[in-house]
Amino acid sequence: MIIGIPKETAAGETRIPFIPDSVKRLTDQGADVHIETGLGDSLGIKDSDYEAVGAKVSNDRAALLSSADLVLRLRKPALEEVSQLKKGAIHVSFLNPFTDNDLVDAFAANNITAISMEMIPRTTRAQKMDALSSQASLAGYAMVILGAERMNKILPMMMTPAGTISPARVFVLGAGVAGLQAIATAKRLGARVDAFDVRPDTKEQIESLGGKYLEIDLGETGETSGGYAKELTEEQKKLQIEGQKKAIAQSDLVITTAQAMGGLRPAPRLVTKDMVEGMQPGSVIIDLAIESGGNVEGAVPGEEIEVNGVKVVGLENMPGRVAMNATQMYSSNMHNLILEYWDKEEKIFKLDLEDDILGGCVITHSGEIINEMTLKERSK
Ligand code: NAD
Repeated sequence: MIIGIPKETAAGETRIPFIPDSVKRLTDQGADVHIETGLGDSLGIKDSDYEAVGAKVSNDRAALLSSADLVLRLRKPALEEVSQLKKGAIHVSFLNPFTDNDLVDAFAANNITAISMEMIPRTTRAQKMDALSSQASLAGYAMVILGAERMNKILPMMMTPAGTISPARVFVLGAGVAGLQAIATAKRLGARVDAFDVRPDTKEQIESLGGKYLEIDLGETGETSGGYAKELTEEQKKLQIEGQKKAIAQSDLVITTAQAMGGLRPAPRLVTKDMVEGMQPGSVIIDLAIESGGNVEGAVPGEEIEVNGVKVVGLENMPGRVAMNATQMYSSNMHNLILEYWDKEEKIFKLDLEDDILGGCVITHSGEIINEMTLKERSK
């Protein structure tokens, strides 16, 4: 079984899918790993570092793609690359399977087994493979650091002979993996943090990190069996928007992380234009959900704009701002996935579709879309 790891091609992507330490874990098990030359360039990792742990380096991308039985990457492939893959190969990456129908169709039509990293179930056994979590937690950190840099104020309280500076106020919307890390980071930097999430359990989690939970009575809210927030009714959304107005107006930095299914479904629009305009000039708002439609009205994907003196940051790929750690974690998620199903005798990745983790994240197999959730989303 040849494991092929092509170089990432998306413009501005600083992360890479696999580091030499992860390659070693596979070659130690007898795996035949081939990487594309320059795989580690963006992080200063050399081809020779991969060769030192047993990888073969290829400068022929097309040959690499067409010979690999198992392809590992970070971002989904360009559509035209799917037909270059070996028929019957397994392809592992982020995929966006609910929105990129053409890509999913192409995987099925070309008889590729496509594994979606974002569909790995959020269970205890799968935690070590959970790339949504590993990337989200770094995103939470990176957003606060970026916000601190963009603000014209400091985060902590400072008492000086020239006077006392009060701590900056940070409001975090959505206290999932990214939001909790944002709260922890802002608290460590000395800010006063308020936060809100629709899942009732989050109150305690926010408070345990030193944040203040914003009480908004939305009536019954809850979470799905997968741990995700249930969608609010239109009435509840209005109540939420009203309830968070004051907290947002008072904040120097607003971090929004409220997604639907980790970004697989469109994000709820929770910060209206008049709420942005109601913030003090000089304050900053950063929208992590921008890649799935955005929480903030007027935020522009990939851009930083100013609305009445308020900086609205729609920059994408927050984990890419801390690319080394994001890569280490993603690479580790991937090698954990491969090794979980590695057959030591045959030296192959054994696809067990009855297994609860693989059963959840395999999207296409044997020429068909077999993932129930993906099929359900399509029929909507
Ligand atoms: P996510 O990215 O889908 O959403 C981020 C947060 O936004 C969530 O906390 C969600 O409740 C919140 N949100 C959604 N709509 C909102 C709204 N209208 N207003 C305010 N907040 C809103 O979720 P996530 O961060 O990927 O994870 C969500 C859940 O999954 C959490 O319960 C987390 O603990 C759980 N989880 C479990 C495991 C595991 O057990 N292995 C691993 C990771 C995450």
